Amino acid sequence: MMLATRFQQELEESSGMKVKLKINDNRSTMLSVRWEPDCAKVSLHRMFLQAPQNVMQSLACYISREDNKITPDIKDFIEAHLQKLDYSHLLDRRKLCARGSVHDLQKIYNQLNREYFQGRLNLHITWFGKTQPRRRIRVTFGLYHDPLKLIKINRLLDSPSFPDYLVAYVVYHEMVHGVCPAYHDERGVYRIHTNEFKELEMQYQHYSLAQNWIKEHQGHLFKGMF
Ligand SMILES: [Zn+2]
Repeated sequence: MMLATRFQQELEESSGMKVKLKINDNRSTMLSVRWEPDCAKVSLHRMFLQAPQNVMQSLACYISREDNKITPDIKDFIEAHLQKLDYSHLLDRRKLCARGSVHDLQKIYNQLNREYFQGRLNLHITWFGKTQPRRRIRVTFGLYHDPLKLIKINRLLDSPSFPDYLVAYVVYHEMVHGVCPAYHDERGVYRIHTNEFKELEMQYQHYSLAQNWIKEHQGHLFKGMF
């Protein structure tokens, strides 16, 4: 994989422009360029560090404004890369169960998707585990499986003891994982809850309320009182 500094040099050489490069890991911006008088501010998804020569060339033409639109080979590259990361067609949807006895995960997900993501997320959601309380040392409220685009919420939460805003918060958190997936950085460190992730997570309307609820009820949770 090409290093970001090397990549930047190459872009500058082939576009003949000074480039300020930002590599990002979320999926909301794949490619954006802002032209300033003295440079081009380029924000790119990490996938571009592996871009083949023709895509690099098109990118340079776009940055130098030789092309005034993003060309099909760049679009194809993005599309192909995203598909490589998506195995959701292998998911057995009959096994998914989103309706609970108290909380309806699909309904919660749909509403959050509309409210916070312009309906753009395309993820699946299901309950996992049992409602039965058990003594536990750790509780996992939710999980996100990126290759399957699948959110799993602990069935323990399907109870009136868990308020709507709390269940929605757990779902929202996992949806943010769908936007800002975990990745290995340049030093090989696995990054999960990045600053970008946290910023987006805090946009949830009842974020503090949910955090406080968790703090207050942690003791009960670990003793299996729910
Ligand atoms: Zn998380």
